[in-house]
Amino acid sequence: MSFTNLGLSNPILKAIEEQGYTNPTPIQAQAIPIVLDKKDVLAGAQTGTGKTAGFTLPMLELLMQNKPDLKKYQIRSLVLTPTRELAAQVEESIETYGKYLPLKSTVIFGGVGINPQIAKIKKGVDIIVATPGRLLDIISQGFLDLSCIEMFVLDEADRMLDMGFVHDIKKILKLLPKTKQSLLFSATFSKEIKILADNLLDHPTLIEVARRNTSSEMVSQTVHFVDKGKKPELLSHIIGSNNWTQVLVFTRTKHIANKLTKKLEFDGIGAAAIHGNKSQGARTKALADFKDGSIRVLVATDIAARGIDIDQLPHVINFELPNVPEDYVHRIGRTGRAGNEGEALSLVCVDEHDLLKNIEKLIKKDIKVIALDGFDVDPSIKAEPIQNGRGGGQKRGGQSQRGRNPRGSGDNSSSQRNRNSNQRGRSRGDVSRGDARKQGNAGSARHR
Ligand code: AMP
Repeated sequence: MSFTNLGLSNPILKAIEEQGYTNPTPIQAQAIPIVLDKKDVLAGAQTGTGKTAGFTLPMLELLMQNKPDLKKYQIRSLVLTPTRELAAQVEESIETYGKYLPLKSTVIFGGVGINPQIAKIKKGVDIIVATPGRLLDIISQGFLDLSCIEMFVLDEADRMLDMGFVHDIKKILKLLPKTKQSLLFSATFSKEIKILADNLLDHPTLIEVARRNTSSEMVSQTVHFVDKGKKPELLSHIIGSNNWTQVLVFTRTKHIANKLTKKLEFDGIGAAAIHGNKSQGARTKALADFKDGSIRVLVATDIAARGIDIDQLPHVINFELPNVPEDYVHRIGRTGRAGNEGEALSLVCVDEHDLLKNIEKLIKKDIKVIALDGFDVDPSIKAEPIQNGRGGGQKRGGQSQRGRNPRGSGDNSSSQRNRNSNQRGRSRGDVSRGDARKQGNAGSARHR
């Protein structure tokens, strides 16, 4: 299968070729003809599958097929995303794939000045990629009219709902015309997503590509059991001794992200933190520095990292496991993208064995344990409950604390832990992970 027989015209094919893409990914091969056929689509696909091109390429093609006269503030296509980073990246893709087309696009999100965004709309744009809050703000000020939308895309719909955007989405849907083409992308399909899909989509065609939590063969996953206090040293050791140059590191909290960034810098490893307490400017700079290699490590919290798209990101390290097992899948989905191999390591201390068990249950496999010389675990250290801003160790319910702010992940230091060790030892399931620990200490390994 090549891009040439999908129904895309030459200016788009030329832009694709310049990107170095030779073949469409499965989601692209399925979605492009269906979208070109003007059908509504309900797609189960995560970031990393090539879904962005899956909707932007046919969108550009369709928009080129006619050119209606638009009144001031009217646009033709709207893409909604949960985070600013994802919005920026989707719009960048539209510009890249549409570079030989006379279509104009812009991106709208909060945290930066509204006036330059309004100024762009005033000049006339065909496509807007936006996060919901700022979009509604601009609409309420009378600077945007959605009544002529031809295509509407809801990207990462599950994350939108997780982040509390459901009311904003409903408001936006009411502003769209009845006749339009709608596409909904979601990694998971909860009851809420199905309700949303029923309201939005008209006889949609279902597209499902293999989910990362069932087909993460491209990502090699390993665990190092390590004492909590030794994690920073182990992290520097792994990155330094392997001379890794592009590593995305995840922490559960902003506080730990900051602390760890300082430690890495102290160890001579250029790093920056990306999380909700950072200004949009600082986040954009950190991402740009990471992409161009000025820094080797980006330390991120889950929400901030959502949507980060870096071509061929080779290494993801979970400095701390996430409380929500699905977040592990999203985290490791940052590597091994679009056919490239990737490596995901998790540094797991005794407190996190239950989290690991839940993750393994979700991905339906045991993650290989590797021991590293000099970092043996101290068996006398007992597990402590994990407490942080998102109700540590809980299931998805803890997510409500994210609120509707895309940057609102928890920020409590794990140093605030309850120190009742008797209860801890019993409730943390040490026995089963103890076996794994023994197995892990049996040998040592180096990373690629
Ligand atoms: P996405 O799932 O849209 O976030 O895309 C994941 C990554 O795959 C992005 O870095 C794209 O640049 C890349 N990509 C998208 N389509 C292709 C393709 N057909 N061949 C190779 N890489 C691709």
